[in-house]
Amino acid sequence: MASSRLYAGPATGFHPEPEPQTNMNRPWTEELTRTAIIVVGFTAAGALLGHVLAGLITGLVVTLFMLYQRLYRFIQWFDKDHLEEQSGDTGIVEDLYYRALYLQKRQQDKVSHLEKVIRRFQESARALPDAVIILNERNEVEWLNKAAKKLVGLKKTRDAGQIISNLIRHPEFNRYLIRKDFKAPIEFPSPIDNTTQIRARIVPYGRHLKLLVIRDVTKIHNMEKMRQEFIASTSHELRTPLTVIIGYLESLRDMKNLEGNEPVIEAMLGQARRMESIIRDMLLLARLESLKNHRANTRKTINIENVIKQIRQEAEATGAWTHQLEFDVDSSINLYGNETEIHSAFSNLLQNALRYTPAKCHIKVSWKGYDKGAQYCVEDNGPGIAKKHLARLTERFYRVDVSRSRETGGTGLGLAIVEQIMKHHDGELIIESEIGKGSRFICNFPAEVVLTSGSPHLKLIG
Ligand code: ADP
Repeated sequence: MASSRLYAGPATGFHPEPEPQTNMNRPWTEELTRTAIIVVGFTAAGALLGHVLAGLITGLVVTLFMLYQRLYRFIQWFDKDHLEEQSGDTGIVEDLYYRALYLQKRQQDKVSHLEKVIRRFQESARALPDAVIILNERNEVEWLNKAAKKLVGLKKTRDAGQIISNLIRHPEFNRYLIRKDFKAPIEFPSPIDNTTQIRARIVPYGRHLKLLVIRDVTKIHNMEKMRQEFIASTSHELRTPLTVIIGYLESLRDMKNLEGNEPVIEAMLGQARRMESIIRDMLLLARLESLKNHRANTRKTINIENVIKQIRQEAEATGAWTHQLEFDVDSSINLYGNETEIHSAFSNLLQNALRYTPAKCHIKVSWKGYDKGAQYCVEDNGPGIAKKHLARLTERFYRVDVSRSRETGGTGLGLAIVEQIMKHHDGELIIESEIGKGSRFICNFPAEVVLTSGSPHLKLIG
């Protein structure tokens, strides 16, 4: 085989060697020349012996036989795991050797390029301060970096191939894996040191593979805890003197001979009550935030039809007759959760609809099942909320119209409380609104906390 046509020289990185521009006709010219020489030779010999046709046929048979022999040798060579340069053939079979070697080299380049990429990824993942764990479709550990040992106590030699929920044992993490909703990370104490708070996030990639990234968030967690404790204790400290002030103001208001100071006392009482509501909501929010991981003991089956009946009565008692109220409740669906919290969230949304829409507006409250669980929705055809405010409505003290909120006794904490309560129930609050058309506040609950009462025994939906 002509060496100039052999694949030569090592490739660096993966820059696939372009298929060399060989003269495509050359192998065929060689092959045809060889065939012509043999056939013409045999035909001439046949002519000399007086058997032209026999000479021609013999020439063709010999050519075919030689071609089969060369192809047989090629197939034998091609079957080997590693192909080595082969010399001694010409024509189209030489071309086949050449192309096979070229494909092999290209394949090797690709493999070594991929190996380099994997090595680089592993080196960078190893250097990360966060734990990186690769999980397969059965949630078994495929690979992990050094930080995985420090943060969650995993070891490559011992734990590769093990199911991750057997290695990181925490109910929150288990639920995260089962629910397969990896939009947001979760936080829980490290299984090897409960003073270390870790944040775990799963990122699905490739074909059913998952990247589990775990970060030490102890500092942020402690600061957040300090903030919550500060708010809770100051709110608590303010509540007692405020109760005394309100008590005195109420006694003053009931006194005779106030000499025209009635409006002043009434205004002071109004402001003191507003402060009391803000403190009450701040305490509730602080309690909800601190109770994140201690909810099991406060949960029970909640009859949602009853809850909605109560909030309807409360709304009617506070003047809801100015609006057109419609209720659509599927009484066969219930929830497993904290009744006080659910009552507070559902009532908050209805009270908001009553407070932020003018009289005669239509408000629809619905409770029904949907493909992922159950849904509570308060929909109104009021003035609506501009798009730019929607993402910020659940922030503490964020109001679209501050004066309207104050006028109607709002604290600016209502939706933050609802959002927190929804998190407690593994659900989410979705707000949809359009100026001039109205608003829709939707509480979506996952199937795990939803119960149907169609049968004598309550059973999970989904
Ligand atoms: P607030 O105590 O001020 O009502 P919330 O957190 O409950 O606080 O609500 C935040 C803001 O969202 C309100 O100030 C109001 O501007 C707006 N909002 C809430 N519900 C509605 C609604 N149904 N229609 C229009 N605006 C609303």
